[in-house]
Amino acid sequence: MAEQALNDLESVQEQWDQICSQLKNEVGDVAFDSWLKPLTPGTFSDGVMNVCVPTRFMRNWVVTHYSDRIHKIWGKKNPEIKSVNFIVQATQEDNYRPYHSGCGDLIKKITTSPSPATFYQSGINSLLANNNEFMANQDQSLSVPLNPQYTFDNFVVGKTNEFAYAAARKVAESRNVSFNPLFLYSGVGLGKTHLMHAIAWHIKQQDPSRNIVYLSAEKFMYKFVRALRYKDTTAFKEQFRSVDVLMVDDVQFMGGKDNTQEEFFYTFNSLIEEGRQIIISADKSPSDLEGIEARLKSRLACGLVADIHPTDFDLRIGILENKARQLGVELPEKVSEFLAQKITSNIRELEGALRRVIAHSQLLSDKEITLDMTQDVLKDMLRSFDKRTTIDEIQKKVAEYFNISVKEMQSSRRARTVARPRQIAMYLAKQLTSRSLPEIGRKFDRDHTTVMHAVRKVEELIVEDASLAESVDALRRALDA
Ligand code: ADP
Ligand code: MG
Repeated sequence: MAEQALNDLESVQEQWDQICSQLKNEVGDVAFDSWLKPLTPGTFSDGVMNVCVPTRFMRNWVVTHYSDRIHKIWGKKNPEIKSVNFIVQATQEDNYRPYHSGCGDLIKKITTSPSPATFYQSGINSLLANNNEFMANQDQSLSVPLNPQYTFDNFVVGKTNEFAYAAARKVAESRNVSFNPLFLYSGVGLGKTHLMHAIAWHIKQQDPSRNIVYLSAEKFMYKFVRALRYKDTTAFKEQFRSVDVLMVDDVQFMGGKDNTQEEFFYTFNSLIEEGRQIIISADKSPSDLEGIEARLKSRLACGLVADIHPTDFDLRIGILENKARQLGVELPEKVSEFLAQKITSNIRELEGALRRVIAHSQLLSDKEITLDMTQDVLKDMLRSFDKRTTIDEIQKKVAEYFNISVKEMQSSRRARTVARPRQIAMYLAKQLTSRSLPEIGRKFDRDHTTVMHAVRKVEELIVEDASLAESVDALRRALDA
């Protein structure tokens, strides 16, 4: 029956869609959009399911990071699948669009992708678009283009980001190197990339001759891997020689890639020694970065470390007003209050919601923006926010399932009957929420290494112990519903 189902293109696509939605939950939107969204299911024969990947670089990444998981989920859905094979094949969807910068794109956006494309993605996309080897050879530029919207003027300052803002301004305005490196960190969508671009714009304006390189950690790795492939690491190093300001965004993605890290460490040290400014961003503080060598971590922390906290209500209102003004739209106070109350996750999502409301009003021949209309337009989006699983909920459900209390789960007791459920809850928290390891740890009164250990342990147990795997699966379904 399964085979039959697989011969039918539609059901392959259907299964793939289901797998995608599960993976998206597990790995988060950014990683999903970057690495998994571009995959498409291919042919199936003799138990081998082919999946097409647009570039070789992506294939390597997907194989090392996601293939086991994909195989496991798919194999469970369809036992006919004995293995999943990733093949490089460009698809039509390769034509990534660059970032959106104004209203002109609103209609397209509403039909093609409801979430605002980010510059971050455009950075990755531009690197993926350079997939073919011929092109790759010609691509000499180091930096990716800067988003013209990401300036200091467009950055709204509030309590939660004023420190990071002040640090960024200081670095941008100083003639001499002030803090080196400046290390910015926060959860997603809170303004790290915006601040980095703002620094770059500011420096460029003051002194156009300064050579500023902004790239994502992924692009850095890609460049380096390519240099290795062409046995051309000297040229790679040479490229960085003339750099005055180096900005590397999202260095958490460098975790685990040892020789890239080493190269980064080397580049980093020599630039610092020569008095060049370095600016780094990540989703965690240097000490909490996973899979990054200790000496690199301490090097990253030796300048100024500034974090951006989750937004507060006032900042959200400020951002909405500012954005509406930029877009030339009148936003009733009730509407901005509603949005600021409901969408608290991050600024990217807040902006996405606002853009959706505006697009809706413009599409319906300048229908006025009202609270009713806003609630209606955002119904689905808000429902999915409500549905997002929280760590509290996970603790409660897992405790119930194993017949212990949440108090016991958070206690220091180490008896297996308590410790195992605790580990499972930590594992599910990592998989089903976008919280970081330290954040999860805090909820259990533990540090992040305990969480990391729990996640690994449960991953092992799922393979060895069928009944535990079943429990985890049942809990996941209950929490996902
Ligand atoms: P991160 O890099 O931390 O994930 P981004 O810098 O990409 O976040 O920010 C996400 C979106 O939110 C961008 O469109 C950015 O312009 C906007 N944004 C973030 N912080 C602010 C702010 N303080 N004022 C105005 N816009 C902001
Ligand atoms: Mg970013």
